[in-house]
Amino acid sequence: MVYDLTVADESVLRCGICFLPLKPPIFHARYKDALYAVGHALCSSCSNRLKNARKCHLCHVAMPDGYQRCHALEDVVNSIHGPCPHAPYGCDTRPTYHAREEHLLQCPHAPCHCPGSNACSFVGPVATLIKHLTAAHGWSCTAEACDGASFGVYLRDGFNFVTTVRGSAHYTSSY
Ligand SMILES: [Zn+2]
Ligand SMILES: [Zn+2]
Ligand SMILES: [Zn+2]
Ligand SMILES: [Zn+2]
Repeated sequence: MVYDLTVADESVLRCGICFLPLKPPIFHARYKDALYAVGHALCSSCSNRLKNARKCHLCHVAMPDGYQRCHALEDVVNSIHGPCPHAPYGCDTRPTYHAREEHLLQCPHAPCHCPGSNACSFVGPVATLIKHLTAAHGWSCTAEACDGASFGVYLRDGFNFVTTVRGSAHYTSSY
């Protein structure tokens, strides 16, 4: 880490057309005139759709060679990392801006709401939830907390089963 950096304008990290976070490969408009060497950036699928374009999508400056790969910007987006929003729940992953959504979908520290009863307001990561189910609701749980292995949580009161695979995106529940 260099020091505490702030990105003042989040849009510079997004595609100028679809507004999704830019991730490699990134393309930009390259102008004939070297004075305008830094072109407006766009993602690979948008540049693919506009591969016959000869004017920048944003400022309409002529670009005789079309959109070109921009390695400098790729290095920039790959070097910007931020904390996971679940850091308060124990996640110490710092995904890049463009990998944030993907990480959130599989963050093992994502808080879960207690399925116990409407009156229960417990929210916490899976491991803590399991302890909570036993401690607060007296449900018998079998858990094997080991990476790559799945563990079953067997609940009473109308719940048939909850299967949670640690460290991956597979959370299934059936009731
Ligand atoms: Zn795009
Ligand atoms: Zn432009
Ligand atoms: Zn996380
Ligand atoms: Zn509860």
